[in-house]
Amino acid sequence: MSVEDKIKALRAELTEHNHRYYVLDEPVISDYEFDQLLNHLHELEQANPQFYDPNSPTQRVGGAVTKNFITVQHDHRMYSLDNSYSKEDLLDWEARLKKVVQEPLSFMCELKYDGASISLTYQEGQLLRAVTRGDGIQGDEVTANIRTIKSVPLQVSAPSNERFDIRGEIIMTKSGFAALNEKRRALGEEEFKNPRNTASGSLKLQDSTEVAKRPLSCLLYSIQGANWPIDTQEDMLQQARNMGFKVPKEARLAKNIDQVMQFIDYWDTHRHELPYEIDGVVVKVNELSHQEMLGYTAKAPRWAMAYKYKAEEATTLLNQVVYQVGRTGAVTPVAELEPVDLAGTVVKRASLHNADQIEKLDLHFGDTVVVEKGGEIIPKITDVKIGLRPKDALPVGFIERCPECSSTLVRLEGEAQHYCPNEQNCPPQISGRIQHFISRKAMDIDGLGEETVNLMVKQGLIKDFADLFTLKVEDIIPLERMGEKSAQNLVKGVQESVRQPYHKVLFALGIRHVGETVAQKLAQAFPKIELLRRASEAELVAVDDIGLKIAQSLINYFDHDENWNRIERLRAYGCQFEAENEPEQLLQSHALEGLSFVVSGVFQRLSREEIKSLILAHSGKIVGSISGKTSYVLAGDQMGPSKRQKAETLGIPIISEEEFFKMIPSNP
Ligand code: AMP
Ligand code: ZN
Repeated sequence: MSVEDKIKALRAELTEHNHRYYVLDEPVISDYEFDQLLNHLHELEQANPQFYDPNSPTQRVGGAVTKNFITVQHDHRMYSLDNSYSKEDLLDWEARLKKVVQEPLSFMCELKYDGASISLTYQEGQLLRAVTRGDGIQGDEVTANIRTIKSVPLQVSAPSNERFDIRGEIIMTKSGFAALNEKRRALGEEEFKNPRNTASGSLKLQDSTEVAKRPLSCLLYSIQGANWPIDTQEDMLQQARNMGFKVPKEARLAKNIDQVMQFIDYWDTHRHELPYEIDGVVVKVNELSHQEMLGYTAKAPRWAMAYKYKAEEATTLLNQVVYQVGRTGAVTPVAELEPVDLAGTVVKRASLHNADQIEKLDLHFGDTVVVEKGGEIIPKITDVKIGLRPKDALPVGFIERCPECSSTLVRLEGEAQHYCPNEQNCPPQISGRIQHFISRKAMDIDGLGEETVNLMVKQGLIKDFADLFTLKVEDIIPLERMGEKSAQNLVKGVQESVRQPYHKVLFALGIRHVGETVAQKLAQAFPKIELLRRASEAELVAVDDIGLKIAQSLINYFDHDENWNRIERLRAYGCQFEAENEPEQLLQSHALEGLSFVVSGVFQRLSREEIKSLILAHSGKIVGSISGKTSYVLAGDQMGPSKRQKAETLGIPIISEEEFFKMIPSNP
């Protein structure tokens, strides 16, 4: 196979995997395998720049920087939608439709995705450009940013090679938004307000590499300017889906307005179960021939109507502020409210996040506050009605001592959160760490609930999650509400948890700022816990997504002997502290101590991964890019010309596979 064919085949294969992962949610290979393929393609492309293609899967990582977005004219105008808020509004609308169309009408009911609208233009099956709505007639060209969104197909097999537009909404999922904020919290950056603003703000970032890091998705709903037959809105959605676009499957065809109302009612109560936010429903006349008869007003189609759900806000009184201590010792203020109905549930508490938030709201006891139900489970206070404040109201100040153990709280410089420093003896920290350890995304231990953990901690049965592995059925049975069967299940669940992979164990340890994704990145970069323990601050921050705060937290963690002792105990019980798919990385010698290597290209005798693990095994270091501090560039075939040039300019020796083998004692 020629290099060109190989590149094409890899691109097609990766495009297919992207589609399965980001559009269908049905991946068939692991992330690791995907990365391997992508790296391989990346190298082939670097070595053969004549086959550059802006729509290659490697281009998803971004790189292009746009200083000023160009304004371009839409091929087809992007209309707004008329709004309705009641069944009467909808019946009035139907009556107007019936005056124009004297045939039975059916309606396509779709969710109204709450994000930023986008128009994608494809020509000859290739993504040509992506433009924001702007004023509907012209918008900003943001193609470089949109290319990084993996659910946007860069190539499609359309029924025609001619140019067409497809419209959709760029959204951020609730979980993606929460993870992004968690990351920002860890880095000490200001948190984003809501998924919608974050999605629309992301489109206008100048650096597309930043956009690539945002968990964005694109949901499509309309094809414009197709020169092939499309009969109905329902058909349009199906065709878009067949071409590879992400089209949510919640849309339903309604035979009459009553069925439309059923759809609206259903999603009013179930919308919180969706992975993304919606602000209503869009009802569209299904037959395109009917749509044509109805046409447009100056601003919106006559054949469509948005039904907006009421903003989920309520006003109530602040009674008290209480403080919760989490597993990391972080102290979170929680507002206790006069119970109030909010979107069908009674709300009694709202999160206040931290001292800064209280200050920002200028919160006083007895204040009238506005609570809002956002993407998160606990509602938040978004506003204070200062005009309604009682005369002698006292401001809410932050507590100075831990409400659970009375230790003096600390607040690190640059951090918004207060912490209780009494890690070893503060009860909620002990139980919290155990609960985190057993949680689904960590060790996933069944048969052990919150109350049982608290009870076991209180009775001194366990003081640490490592103690879980010493539990015997006889110890547990005497506990309240514990039968023999559930005790056996618990012990079995604990024993089976040793099969959890290294990155989950790393997450389970509960190191401050090490969330699920950070743990994955760390496990990849340091496939053995010893390597992580030995890593310097500089080596840690060199890893994607690892900032100074995380690095310092890790170093601090490993500085404490009791933490390492606990890891040794867990290892003795059988827990995994090495990545599975990685090659063996036992220390073999110190031959490469102090040397750093950039490994690039394709090798004859060993795979690149095997070479990398050899470097590590002989105490060398691997770095991603060439700098003045690099000791050697280890070059295989097809190393990129830019890398070679950089090494030559900086005077870094380029060595071959064979030369490298001579540097280590037990060469293969
Ligand atoms: P508005 O911004 O209130 O005028 O509503 C119109 C906007 O709703 C459009 O520009 C789209 O971005 C957005 N929208 C979200 N979901 C849909 C959908 N299923 N069909 C049509 N428009 C939608
Ligand atoms: Zn405490």
